[in-house]
Amino acid sequence: MPQASTLALVLTAAPLNEQDKLVSLLTAEHGLLKAVAPGAAKLKNRFGSLLELFTEGEFHYYWREDRELVTLSKGEIKTSFFPLVSAAENVFYCYLLAETVLRVMQPNHGDTRIYNLLLAVLHGREKGQAMDWLLLYFLVWLLRNEGLLFNPRRCSNCGRGELERAWLRSDYRGLLCPACRTGERLAVDRDELDFIAWTATHAPAHCATWAGRFAPAGLIRILTGKIEYHGEFTLQSRRYLPEFR
Ligand SMILES: [Zn+2]
Repeated sequence: MPQASTLALVLTAAPLNEQDKLVSLLTAEHGLLKAVAPGAAKLKNRFGSLLELFTEGEFHYYWREDRELVTLSKGEIKTSFFPLVSAAENVFYCYLLAETVLRVMQPNHGDTRIYNLLLAVLHGREKGQAMDWLLLYFLVWLLRNEGLLFNPRRCSNCGRGELERAWLRSDYRGLLCPACRTGERLAVDRDELDFIAWTATHAPAHCATWAGRFAPAGLIRILTGKIEYHGEFTLQSRRYLPEFR
């Protein structure tokens, strides 16, 4: 049977049956990978804490041509984020980060950007950066990377720039200036538009410079709303976040 190994982050690991777990991985270079971890649902198993959320590891696997899922044989932990992920103030943000990646990234969409960005978010949180700003930064880039982000600098109808305030079209496919707006209700202010544009050229570590200019909750709700609208699903993990209460 063909075999391979890959550097990856664990996004989910859920019991598949009494013995095994179904694991979703974000690989460093080849996008999403779904795998069966044999025996991982048993109390004592060879994977130990390798399959915790956002553990970065080197995963060894094999596959059969007639099966869709690959099978994990073993792995080595490279970086564990367990203390961070399991902290009460982080855990639901981490669930939402993992869920959005699983839902938004296209299968076989191999690129390193989202992988590196997730690592930057996790390391940023370890250094004490605010989780809501990191989440917002991540959502902007996830949409940009998949070609789903609206242009924050232009009215999508008349092309006007220098927007002080804009409204999202009801299908989330672009902004409308005050003159082109016809009852749309999701408003985005100048600072929020500037932030979206700023992320294109700045690292998440510098999000702190935005604290106090606007509260990230509104834009987090708009971007998750856009993700849900395009995918025609509800993000299950967002309901636990203060931004959605
Ligand atoms: Zn316009």
